[in-house]
Amino acid sequence: MRKQILIVEDEKNIVDILTFNLEKEGYEILVAYDGDTGLQLALAKNPDLILLDIMLPSRNGFDVCRALRAQNNCTPVIMLTAREEETDKVFGLEVGADDYMTKPFSMRELLARVKANIRRTGMAESAAQSADESSPERQVLGRFRFDSALMMVYKDDKALDLTQREYELLYFLSASPGKVFSREVLMERVWNYEGYVGDVRAVDVAVRRLREKVEDDPAQPQFILTRRGMGYLFQV
Ligand code: CA
Repeated sequence: MRKQILIVEDEKNIVDILTFNLEKEGYEILVAYDGDTGLQLALAKNPDLILLDIMLPSRNGFDVCRALRAQNNCTPVIMLTAREEETDKVFGLEVGADDYMTKPFSMRELLARVKANIRRTGMAESAAQSADESSPERQVLGRFRFDSALMMVYKDDKALDLTQREYELLYFLSASPGKVFSREVLMERVWNYEGYVGDVRAVDVAVRRLREKVEDDPAQPQFILTRRGMGYLFQV
């Protein structure tokens, strides 16, 4: 079945160029020109990915994303930001977006990210399916227990409420305790961005949110540590 992408964007020329290129790649396209319609379509059609502009009529992109996540909708969202504004980018990630791209963006880069985010969802679905078929795989690391078939992590036997990305980040880091991974490597391995050379801020935001759920005291992390100038590591 063809993967469906919802574009929520009020600039018609951007919609046209995105539609043209994504259809050429075999995707089916839905379009909304304002935030309210975008949110309705996202909930009614459940697309495989959403490209979401920030400045929109009726409801801005941040509100659309927040409303989706509040309803436990975890469709991958890539925000399209108009400016090189650090605050816009970080705020988009804070309200639950998976990624952002700054206009004007390279179509090649956008297609790569679309593909990476859709592939990630597919991997999670097949993990959930194989969980039904085989007995769950379990791994204990100090106070943590990983159930990779169910994609769940327990700390002191209490389930952690992690997003899929947070789970994948923790699972990846904890597979090699004590080993330091650079942000670029994490982008490649956890975010599936091959040969990533761009902005790695998404990693820092994801680590901070993960610490809030994993650490006893997020201000003084004892499990997910920073090696200044190098990257992150997990220790038990
Ligand atoms: Ca706009």
